[in-house]
Amino acid sequence: MELWKDKIRKVVPYVPGEQPNMPDIVKLNTNECPYPPSPLVEKAIREFNTSDLRKYPSILCAELRSALTKSYPVGAENLFLGNGSDEVLALCFQTFFNSEKPILFPDVTYSFYDVWCELYNIPYKRIPLDKDFRIVPEDYYGNNGGIVITNPNAPTSIYMDIEYIEKILENNRDVIVIVDEAYIDFGGRSAVCLLGKYSNLVVVQTYSKSRALAGIRVGYAMACRELIEALEAVKNSFNSYTLNSLSQAAAAAAALDNEYFESCVNKIKNTRQRLINELDKLGFETLPSSANFIFTANKNIEAKELFAYLRSKGVIVRYFDKPRINDRLRITVGTDKEIDRLLTEIKNFIKERTQ
Ligand code: PMP
Repeated sequence: MELWKDKIRKVVPYVPGEQPNMPDIVKLNTNECPYPPSPLVEKAIREFNTSDLRKYPSILCAELRSALTKSYPVGAENLFLGNGSDEVLALCFQTFFNSEKPILFPDVTYSFYDVWCELYNIPYKRIPLDKDFRIVPEDYYGNNGGIVITNPNAPTSIYMDIEYIEKILENNRDVIVIVDEAYIDFGGRSAVCLLGKYSNLVVVQTYSKSRALAGIRVGYAMACRELIEALEAVKNSFNSYTLNSLSQAAAAAAALDNEYFESCVNKIKNTRQRLINELDKLGFETLPSSANFIFTANKNIEAKELFAYLRSKGVIVRYFDKPRINDRLRITVGTDKEIDRLLTEIKNFIKERTQ
């Protein structure tokens, strides 16, 4: 008998979108940027001194930290850097949510939150979005162990004005409120401007989406010095060197190229609008998107069936077989060419079904 089997921790992990290795696919399933990172990133990687790889990376991440402070009105002491915002968020959950009371997040949101709650034994409660998939701020007022809001929310793509984020903060001064802004650059105002007023606010962002660097894994939290120090202490009890030196150099280069960043974001916003308009003509109803993806449904089409059809044609989108959202597809905004191919395949699907 293998008695050790009883002693193994069993968890239900988060399931990320697939990363298939098929030729000529249109990959619109994990909200990556369809454009390459800034040319400055390529330069930084080419000029990187590989001999430095023998040393541990800088714990301070001084160069990247200083580059980030140029983009945001925060000091170096208000930044916590990590290996993708998933790691930063996981450490935030571990550091800030230690109450008997449940933490709150929407019923339809980033599906990693409940996984971390289960992993760290954090009680949690999912608060239903309203019928239009919007967050109702009043539902988050008081009596909880903390709050996590994704803004714009995922997979709904809907942005909540920061005046409502502020209402949530005003009504929750005794717990930590995390605002996950993975998609904020595609159409919203960051809650960073509230940091001076609310010491219990943590804003988390990533270089995986708008900065086109999902492969190097860089994310960060912005908060008051005391919260950052608490995060550092937990991180240093787990792994002192989370961010490797090559990632630090690449992200620092990307941080300095705001012109390139803005041009990519603008292209994505234009393609997003065109995609929404074209889907509208095909009878789809798409939620108002402030992200680099859309969340769309068509009353006459089974989302699961369309998902499988598109996949068979090499166009990969995301389908969630979950209550409330199993009639929708989440589609990342790709290049115009990729979106043309998606639209052609959707039209073929509709044509084949009506024949
Ligand atoms: N938050 C949200 C809402 C996301 O969709 C993602 C991407 N899956 C992340 C955080 C994590 O992104 P990363 O770890 O690449 O920074």
